[in-house]
Amino acid sequence: MIHENCPNCGSTKIEGFFKIKNAPIFSLVTVKSQQEALNVPRKDIELGFCHSCGFVFNRLFDTSIDFFTMGYEDQQGFSTTFMKYLKKISEDLIQKYDLKGKTLLEIGCGKGDFINLLVELNEGKGIGIDPAYEEGRQNNPNLTFYKEFYKTDHGKLPADFICCRHTLEHIHGTQAFLQLIRDSLGNQTNKIIFFEIPQITRILEVQAFWDIYYEHCSYFSAGSLARLFRSTGYEILDLRLDYNDQYLLIEARPALTKSTRGFPIEESIEEQKKRVDNFKIKIREQLEDWRKNLTALKAKGKKTVVWGGGSKSVGFLTNFADLDLIEFVVDINPHMENNYIPGIGKKYVQPGFLKDYKPEAVIIMNGIYKDEITKTLHEMDVFPEIYAL
Ligand SMILES: [Zn+2]
Repeated sequence: MIHENCPNCGSTKIEGFFKIKNAPIFSLVTVKSQQEALNVPRKDIELGFCHSCGFVFNRLFDTSIDFFTMGYEDQQGFSTTFMKYLKKISEDLIQKYDLKGKTLLEIGCGKGDFINLLVELNEGKGIGIDPAYEEGRQNNPNLTFYKEFYKTDHGKLPADFICCRHTLEHIHGTQAFLQLIRDSLGNQTNKIIFFEIPQITRILEVQAFWDIYYEHCSYFSAGSLARLFRSTGYEILDLRLDYNDQYLLIEARPALTKSTRGFPIEESIEEQKKRVDNFKIKIREQLEDWRKNLTALKAKGKKTVVWGGGSKSVGFLTNFADLDLIEFVVDINPHMENNYIPGIGKKYVQPGFLKDYKPEAVIIMNGIYKDEITKTLHEMDVFPEIYAL
């Protein structure tokens, strides 16, 4: 199955430019045994670039798999760096759009941690919508949850602000999804819409292959995201990067006439095409360099661990699974301890495990945590070589 049309604009001018063979289709599910982890189905990924809107997506994505209703561990709220970031963007949004005491709604709220944080800060009410919400996970009386997909009726809920964090990259039909939300809101132009997603431009520029994995079928740049919002009936109020330029943040409101308002950060399709062409060359070198480094660590018999679980570790290890170098992946999320990495079959451990294991090399999956992790290692009297992505 290959998607011939761009799900973001409908164009057929798609160029396939990067392929990953046998990627595990799940990276966020909780897997309790090694065998179960190794049994996770694998499928190929082929990134396609749309010459009409600049969107990048997995042309081979299997839309028949239901990723949304299964449980998964996606909580990043255990890192102080990340919590600081979340608190800062929340406080900024509350102030900027005068949201004190108002009702806030989150589409794709997962376990509800973010909407809970928002409501603690704005002292109002919160609504979370997610088919994978676990009943009873939050016990804040100001929160209401709908364990279902977003639908037209939800547009009638009394929310002043609608947010959607790290969900759109999991949705294949991006245009249809934004159109659904827009249609549900009718002429309510006073609602503020906020989306946050990873951005592809950085992935292309530094060949961040570890950020390409099966569950992410849609990869946005400032340009392709802005074009999507305008084409589906929104006026963009702000568009920017944050979190070390890893995330793309957009604020918008429903518009009654087609908005033409653009932002300097929006790149042209030609600029993005150049990045794609450059990526095609550089990615080969990047993968070869890592392979060389990892092969050398293995030859020297150095005990090596990956720090940072979740999808980045799956994205990274998928490319080097054949080397069989890494035995453990460290993650600070206590819910992941003793689980196995989907498709890879290695075990998640807590940082404290390294005190006795004493790894000689640690590969950090997200460079933004390098200082925090190095400090933790040194406090445990562990002084490995550190590599950071
Ligand atoms: Zn397109």
